[in-house]
Amino acid sequence: MKLDRYTPENLRRPSHGLINIHPIQRGGILTREAREVLLEWADGYSVCDVCVKGRVDLLKTPPIENLKHDVAEFLNMDEVRFSAGARHAMFAIMRAFSENGGTIVLDSLAHYTSYIAAELSGLNIVEVPSTGYPEYDILPESYAQTFERVREETGSNPVLALLTHVDYRYGNVADAVAVGKICEEYGIPFILNAAYSAGVMPVDGKRCKAAFVVGSGHKSWAATAPIGVLAMAEEFMGSVLSTSKIKDMTEKVSPQKELGLFGCSPVYGLPVITLMASFPAVVERVKHWDDEVRKSRYFVKEMEKIMGLRQIGRRPTEHTLNAIETPPFYEVSKTHKKKGYFLYKALKNKGVAGLQPGLTKSIKVNTYGLTDEETEKVVQAFKEIARENGLEVDD
Ligand SMILES: *Cc1c(COP(=O)(O)O)cnc(C)c1O
Repeated sequence: MKLDRYTPENLRRPSHGLINIHPIQRGGILTREAREVLLEWADGYSVCDVCVKGRVDLLKTPPIENLKHDVAEFLNMDEVRFSAGARHAMFAIMRAFSENGGTIVLDSLAHYTSYIAAELSGLNIVEVPSTGYPEYDILPESYAQTFERVREETGSNPVLALLTHVDYRYGNVADAVAVGKICEEYGIPFILNAAYSAGVMPVDGKRCKAAFVVGSGHKSWAATAPIGVLAMAEEFMGSVLSTSKIKDMTEKVSPQKELGLFGCSPVYGLPVITLMASFPAVVERVKHWDDEVRKSRYFVKEMEKIMGLRQIGRRPTEHTLNAIETPPFYEVSKTHKKKGYFLYKALKNKGVAGLQPGLTKSIKVNTYGLTDEETEKVVQAFKEIARENGLEVDD
């Protein structure tokens, strides 16, 4: 063992001091308030000082029970639990619907963790196709068509439907209201996966007729990992929050331990405290989503001045996560001595981190929360790299 690998000096982050445009990281950057509580609550199980009922979501000190209700109100849902990430929230839902097998319908832009949660629950997965290149739109009516197809093939309705509100590949904002309406018509409980939306943009669960809204605290609520948000409509509390049955056999498991949450949501320390400390700022920041979209559209417009670059997904963009095709950068990489890594390295030299190393055919960038100056700095970095490598920039 070389234990000196793990010394604090060796644990500096590669992105230290740089502007980070990593698609999954922008909405998880802690607020000033969250940073202030870090040391106070950093010990393991730190929120368990004053636990009476054996469940972290019922704690009054720190006010996790209040937070639970406030988050439910914020998402316009009835009940909330915190989970070990959005993936765990999805699993906790799906396992409650999979007793007799059954089918879940999800959009083809769904995150891999949606598939994993379904597989782990023993559900059969059927995809709703997208319109394909270049927009990759998910049309709400495709949900109705897919429900019909499942009915024909299996003789029954799907047990659940899931829509990725904003997908991780193109940052498309799906029409959750329209999909929710279709799910309601078919009587199929609707999961809105809001990992890339709740916490950064307004999300109204009831307006979308969502049975469940799933969020990711470390992706979009300025919280430390891991924490997910599992919000639900009242009618599903009984099934999803069912309690352990082992209590009949042993004294060890108290009657309030919720099965899908391992008895006590696994967010015992910094995850829930940082989410809480950031929550007032999160409630405020979603009101300024328009400004984030404005910055994002500016970014895309400027990037497309590098000849041959083009944003893919729905246009104009409605989110801060964008995919951009960059075939000219790929051409450069073929003869560059750093090969596919040239773009990542050149950006780092110009103070920008977060591009996936080795990728040059297309890139994904998230501008969420950057100041105008930082956005400009990122744009200029890309343009300079383009010029330095003989590409044309139409400025
Ligand atoms: C990031 C992401 C997830 C995973 O979130 P975790 O909180 O890390 O589990 C799930 N779904 C979507 C759509 C995502 O973008």
